[in-house]
Amino acid sequence: MATLSSRPVHKPTTATASPKSVPKPNKATPSPKPVPKPHMATPSQKPVSRPMMATSLQKPVPKRKIDCGALTHLAPPPPKPVTKPKVDFGSFSNVIGGKLCKSRNTFSAKNPANKQPLGDVPAANRHDVEQAVRYANVAQKEWAKKTWQERQQICLRFKDVYSNYVDDLTDLLALEIGRPKHSCRREVESCGVHASFHAQLPLPGGDGFDAGDRGIMVRYTPLGVVAAICPWNSPLVLCFGKLFPAVVAGNSIIIKPSPYAPYTTLKMVEIAQQVFPPGVVQVLAGDASVGASLVEHPNIHKISFTGSIPTGRRILQAAAATMKRVTLELGGNDACIVLPDVDIDDVAPKVAMSAFLSSGQICVSSKRIYIHQSIYKPFLKAMIDFTSQIKVGPPDQEDVTIGPIQNSMQFEKVKELFEDCRRKGYKFAVGPKTVEESMGYYIHPAIIDNPPDDSRIVTEEPFGPIVPCQPWRDEKEVIARANNTKTGLGATVWGKDLKRCEKIAHEIEAGSVFINSAAKPTPLAPLGGMKESGIGSEWGPSGIKAYMNEQVIHNFSGR
Ligand code: NAD
Repeated sequence: MATLSSRPVHKPTTATASPKSVPKPNKATPSPKPVPKPHMATPSQKPVSRPMMATSLQKPVPKRKIDCGALTHLAPPPPKPVTKPKVDFGSFSNVIGGKLCKSRNTFSAKNPANKQPLGDVPAANRHDVEQAVRYANVAQKEWAKKTWQERQQICLRFKDVYSNYVDDLTDLLALEIGRPKHSCRREVESCGVHASFHAQLPLPGGDGFDAGDRGIMVRYTPLGVVAAICPWNSPLVLCFGKLFPAVVAGNSIIIKPSPYAPYTTLKMVEIAQQVFPPGVVQVLAGDASVGASLVEHPNIHKISFTGSIPTGRRILQAAAATMKRVTLELGGNDACIVLPDVDIDDVAPKVAMSAFLSSGQICVSSKRIYIHQSIYKPFLKAMIDFTSQIKVGPPDQEDVTIGPIQNSMQFEKVKELFEDCRRKGYKFAVGPKTVEESMGYYIHPAIIDNPPDDSRIVTEEPFGPIVPCQPWRDEKEVIARANNTKTGLGATVWGKDLKRCEKIAHEIEAGSVFINSAAKPTPLAPLGGMKESGIGSEWGPSGIKAYMNEQVIHNFSGR
């Protein structure tokens, strides 16, 4: 059997997808063709322009070497060539059937640090969706024939190939997300832990047992084609959390990134074509209509969605028509409970950062901070002191703590919450009462000192750098207030009395509770929400089952 390294190297080609040219998975495709000129058909069409992006791509690229793994027993293995096939980080395409595809129309997202367009991306249309679904179904049949271990090995191979592009991907992510470079690098490198984790998971099921009148065997099989619909706040990490379990389980996947942050995902999937057979991992950029087409499509078998609650609700309704499997990872309004025994100087800055990291644009950011009344004033003061030192600025500035809001839509939403707090006369302990327009979508973090429980800043998910702090007196009362929401994504509890922390954690209605830390989800543990924060969970040893059918064989033979 061919080893992974002796498989033909797939090079993506650039073309528009053709309905008749469904490539056979596992076969080498022709070498890259020049990017075709866009069609001239519609007035809305724009020329494919060179965006203001990475510059390091004109470096000479060594030729790829094919390693003949079959002869390795005769001689010591030659050192693995470090190859980095050229990936143009200045041009963006959908990936359909292993090919880089343009589309009739294009769109551009903006650099949040300066509001400048980042360059054209093809806007997938219904035809592209049809093509991708066809390729995905053909490819999946072959992909599912590989063994579990073979698929895991290919994921590890992808991790290695992808690691060649970490610098370029980090620069690109910083441009489209606006977070400081070191934070973007961490997200780009999260591929490693997601790939490695899923590459060591055992195939679930398989242990039969005797049930008296029969033998019972539970087995897990792939669902078919998965569509991963992703948000803009952490586009890569949320995508990896769907990609690896989906493909290890034997599915093919079509990824739809957010139109606010499509670039890094498009490049990641392009790089994936060096390793995965055509059609196994595809990507379609576009707006909500592309997502809706994927959800409605009868030949897609599962939707894994991360995003807002209103969109999750629409997806759940639409998926009912074709009885699709659905995993929904949605928004939250996470409570943070600070016990009276904390070391204020140590904990207050950490609590502030748990609210303001990524400008509050993390699904599990602390969004309501409850501080025990006995320490309320000094704890708040320590948070204020820390917060006033936070430096907001562009990703390439060394000493910056947080970047801008990622897009204009979110900027306007957060601005409106600031306005609401100002209009209602709530006390700004720190931060601007009015959000000024500037060259980017920058907002300095604000703490609202003890607003009413029914204020918008307490009851809504801001997804921005503004957070309410409120005092609490009694444990029962604070747990009731923390749980007084329709959402239940995450929560944090801070205190020296660990038994008390754990007791509170058990009573909080949230999918993940973090004790003495800001929220730090890991692929090693399931991630999911209670109540309206989601349906099902992903990640962790059980998460892969969300990408599989459960089949039971009842065997009465010889009884
Ligand atoms: P969103 O719901 O607006 O969009 C998410 C994705 O869904 C985008 O790709 C969008 O184009 C697509 N989409 C929109 N309408 C659709 C439809 N009708 N059918 C199919 N697809 C559709 O969310 P967002 O603003 O991108 O993300 C922010 C939200 O995501 C916040 O509420 C945040 O809490 C949540 N979030 C949750 C998690 C989690 O793990 N639970 C992680 C990150 C973000």
